[in-house]
Amino acid sequence: MKKDIAVNKRTAGSGSEIVSIETDVLVIGGGLAGCMAAIKASESGVKVTIAEKANTLSSGCAGTGIDHVWGYIPEVHEPMGWTIEDLIEDHTQIIARGLINKELLYLVASEAKDRVLDLEKFGVNFRYKDSKAPGKFRIVRQFHSVPTTWNFDGVDLKIKLTREAKRRGVTIINRVMVADLLVTGGRIAGALGVDTRTGKQYLFKAKAVVVSTGRVNRLSRTVTGVWGNHRVPVNETGDGRAMALRAGVPIINMEFFGPPGYSIGNFELNLGSPRNTVQPAGSVVGPKGEVIIPRTYFYDWDKLGREKVNPSESRRRFEAERVLPQSWSQLHDKGGGPFYLDLTGGTAQEINYIKWSISNEGKGSFFLDYLKKQEKFDFRKDKLEWLPNSRELAGTAASGLLVNKNLETEVKGLFGAGDDVGGVPWMCSPGAFTMGWRAGEMAGKAAQKQKSFAPIRNESVRSFKQLCSQTLRNSQGVDWQEAELALQNIMDYYAGSVRSELMLRRGVERLRDLKQKVSFRAANPHELGRCLEVRSIIENAEMIMGASLERKESRRAPYGFYRADYPEQDDKNWLAFLAVKLDGQRFTFSKVPVK
Ligand SMILES: Cc1cc2nc3c(=O)[nH]c(=O)nc-3n(C[C@H](O)[C@H](O)[C@H](O)COP(=O)(O)OP(=O)(O)OC[C@H]3O[C@@H](n4cnc5c(N)ncnc54)[C@H](O)[C@@H]3O)c2cc1C
Repeated sequence: MKKDIAVNKRTAGSGSEIVSIETDVLVIGGGLAGCMAAIKASESGVKVTIAEKANTLSSGCAGTGIDHVWGYIPEVHEPMGWTIEDLIEDHTQIIARGLINKELLYLVASEAKDRVLDLEKFGVNFRYKDSKAPGKFRIVRQFHSVPTTWNFDGVDLKIKLTREAKRRGVTIINRVMVADLLVTGGRIAGALGVDTRTGKQYLFKAKAVVVSTGRVNRLSRTVTGVWGNHRVPVNETGDGRAMALRAGVPIINMEFFGPPGYSIGNFELNLGSPRNTVQPAGSVVGPKGEVIIPRTYFYDWDKLGREKVNPSESRRRFEAERVLPQSWSQLHDKGGGPFYLDLTGGTAQEINYIKWSISNEGKGSFFLDYLKKQEKFDFRKDKLEWLPNSRELAGTAASGLLVNKNLETEVKGLFGAGDDVGGVPWMCSPGAFTMGWRAGEMAGKAAQKQKSFAPIRNESVRSFKQLCSQTLRNSQGVDWQEAELALQNIMDYYAGSVRSELMLRRGVERLRDLKQKVSFRAANPHELGRCLEVRSIIENAEMIMGASLERKESRRAPYGFYRADYPEQDDKNWLAFLAVKLDGQRFTFSKVPVK
């Protein structure tokens, strides 16, 4: 007979203590999306808890600062005669090349401004005295054919979000890695986790759960040779995707684990693309100084309202000038390179702005300091070589949980948010802010409606406890590092930049073999966390390998997906998301049409 687990520090099977927590809404992962979800859910008057693997004060991709957010800005775009539909079309064509979930894109584009205003209320600065743009915002051109991006002082964003969540009564439990979701009869019942410092296990009973664990790192060897891709937090190991898959949720776009990206001098930083932090003065040039991507210019705000934008013409011009027709790896295959980032044409004002922008985002101030001290670097005179970065499953890939426009998954009461959600390439922080907010709102409402907790099966709790205690007691097992290296070798060889049926089939076999043979051992709770992370990475790798085998076409920029045996893009059959789902121990695949 199925029994409910009693609350408050009761035992659940194998003898050791389990901390049992009841909450109406559980948010797994307190990054940008998770904090926003918790803040919004608290408005429903329900009990909200964030379980965070690190510490919400500095965790996640934005932990060391971010500085730009895109969206539809009525006071800028309306005078231009540029509508929200034009933004949707720009993002669909320029960024996603047609493969995008437009409902989610609409949510992000249309609600980003409201979230910017909320962030201001939480103490984040978006206004600058010297700005000539409406609202004294600092607005620049980034992904789209007209300026759509607010800059802001985002170094301490996570501190401000944590403060706001606490002010609203959200309980934050740091250092707890959630590893499994509990589902009973198609409804979310809670989750299981472990404190990676004390080893205490946690049973969360929840009426609604938001999964927002971010990106997937450590799938591949890094270009620096150092462990982990340091652009993205090393503790983001696709736990959300893995636990959602096990809970029965379809996961999309996993095959788009592309070749290495590019950044400056192998510094795994968030700069490099002239469309991003180093605009407007940054251009990319080839070995003879030939311009590959030209620089841009600040928008002249005195012109606002005096000229209308022709959306298709503006997009055509932007694409012709600013979008690479081929991916960097394609250019390399043809003997292109070396490539350099060139800011030498920048004015003093532009260079100062770029320095501000770099130092506000993702460890940039270390980089600036290094350039100044070690290299005596001068942006006005010197060029920086643009070199391969480590591979990532994020951003452009838009891989993750399949959700509807309310961020609901196929499991009742289970929501996704932020980078854990699939379907919108380069949704970045506006995706996290808007989806987090919507998921929090929906989870709060769902929890309000739910009178009682769904029952939890004792055996799920028991098997998690067993997994943890076995791993901690297992003197004969394998260290997490060893398993991780084996996995990375498999991924880089069988699911590299060029893929093919026979290689992928062999990759699937080798991953299965690795999974079956590995019995982890951990010397302490920290290592236990790492072992659980490698379990997630292996499961993500399985999805990548399986989905790569299933997609019988190539889809290069921006997805970086190349099958040597199917070298052409095949929109007729494959302009669709590929969803992978678990059926017992096997994967099933289905195409989700693009709406
Ligand atoms: C260096 C860098 C700079 C960037 N700059 C910008 C920018 O300027 N503008 C922009 O729009 N976007 C930027 N981005 C992207 C943006 O930061 C992300 O899109 C955004 O943070 C995603 O929010 P998220 O909540 O989904 O994930 P994150 O903010 O990464 O948060 C995920 C959270 O989940 C936690 N977690 C993971 N696994 C578990 C688990 N098992 N249990 C509990 N907790 C878990 C993590 O510790 C983390 O706190 C940048 C990204 C990087 C890497």
